[in-house]
Amino acid sequence: MRSVVLAHQVDFNGWRDAARQLALEGVAPEQVHFSVGAPDDLFAQGGADAAPAAAPSGVFTVSRALMQLAQTVIQANEPERFDLMYGLVWRAHQGERKIAELVTDPAVQRAIRLAQSVRRDTHKMRAFVRFREVPEPDATRYVAWFEPDHFIVEANAEFFVRRFATMIFSILTPYRSVHWTGTALEFGPGADPSQVPDDDALERYWRAYFSAIFNPARLKVSAMTSEMPKKYWRNLPEAAAIPELIRGARERTETMLETPPLAPSESRPRRAPAPPKARESEPVTAGPLAELAHQAAGCRRCPLWEPATQVVFGEGPTDARMMMVGEQPGDQEDLAGRPFVGPAGQLLDRAMREAGIDRAGVYVTNAVKHFKFEPRGKRRIHAKPDLTEIGACSVWLAEERRTVQPALVVMLGATAARAVLGRTVTISRERSTPIALGDTYGANTQGLVTVHPSYLLRLPDEDSRQREYAAFVADLKHALSLVTA
Ligand code: SF4
Repeated sequence: MRSVVLAHQVDFNGWRDAARQLALEGVAPEQVHFSVGAPDDLFAQGGADAAPAAAPSGVFTVSRALMQLAQTVIQANEPERFDLMYGLVWRAHQGERKIAELVTDPAVQRAIRLAQSVRRDTHKMRAFVRFREVPEPDATRYVAWFEPDHFIVEANAEFFVRRFATMIFSILTPYRSVHWTGTALEFGPGADPSQVPDDDALERYWRAYFSAIFNPARLKVSAMTSEMPKKYWRNLPEAAAIPELIRGARERTETMLETPPLAPSESRPRRAPAPPKARESEPVTAGPLAELAHQAAGCRRCPLWEPATQVVFGEGPTDARMMMVGEQPGDQEDLAGRPFVGPAGQLLDRAMREAGIDRAGVYVTNAVKHFKFEPRGKRRIHAKPDLTEIGACSVWLAEERRTVQPALVVMLGATAARAVLGRTVTISRERSTPIALGDTYGANTQGLVTVHPSYLLRLPDEDSRQREYAAFVADLKHALSLVTA
């Protein structure tokens, strides 16, 4: 039996070099065992302890897909992961070139399950890391505590540097810590929660912010605890407010329902009450759209996936008669993983209700599925997707249209119109007039161009806000008449 001792928990290079040598030597998977020798020393020397003095000759090629799978699987907290992936590499070397695509193979299935679990953990880390302020003599350091299920810190460090480039920060976890000095990334040993302060001004900010955006009419405790498992709550400042918000949700919802709707001219559009018939559209959890959403989560067709928290796919019924297409997810959509849940989404909900459209019956999506932004301090400022990104992402919109086959596609803004029509559109010239979309995604499909609700939020004066809001509601009423005619 050969034994390969790797330098650390995510020693992908050490594993890959050893796997290559062993495969070329003809060492079968049952004759070798991989282990990690020095889990707390990231800089230890690793690789095959049984490696030959000279690398054996021969051709060793495995598919990029298999190596990408290995890179993710190797982050899994599963002692046998290196052996599992060597078994797959061995089979690829023996001639099963497309083994990564054999999704019915038990070993491939196991690897895919591990990779999915790592990706879920990655999402949780990106969404639930919360920094606390620690004043230091020369600067302020922001420190966060996080308990990942897998060994994901190294692979995600660059993500946090990109997002918080101007901050000096540390993320501490039980197995590894990562420190950004403002110019360099450094890794250190694991830590414990006592090294992170309990409270600071940021904590109060997060609680206040979360309470302000909490919508009791949308409360689904099971969905919330599934998306934000309770194990993360103790690290989330806003979680302290959750029990109280849940207790008060029913009362607040009743108050909202009893409050008369606000006119467009009033200055608090986000507080518009939900009339009794309004239903929230649901994320798609099964069927072809769920499968598409799952595939899009791994999409790398353009660079937008990398700084974003997660893909934000469309949601709504598979047989919806109307599809609404926006531009891209915003900051809140990126964190929630759902389209149109931020301020523009709330304004859209309100306009749809006034137009008599039940959002639950509409498939709502975006032209681009990842949030594009520019970091500015601690804020993420929306950035417009360019033509390359719109083009790269159009495959997903096309698949959504092919699956749903709506009778009408409502294009909210110029980016959506560009993505659907494949040409530059001047909104003022083409809005409100039905456009024949041809038969590619369903017979007699029509399109209707209107403004994006975020445009209404940006208008500087009350008169234009009222006028444009009324025109937007009129467009939506027109849209409804087209699908009910
Ligand atoms: S924005 Fe679209 S094309 Fe780009 S990575 Fe995301 S899903 Fe893929």
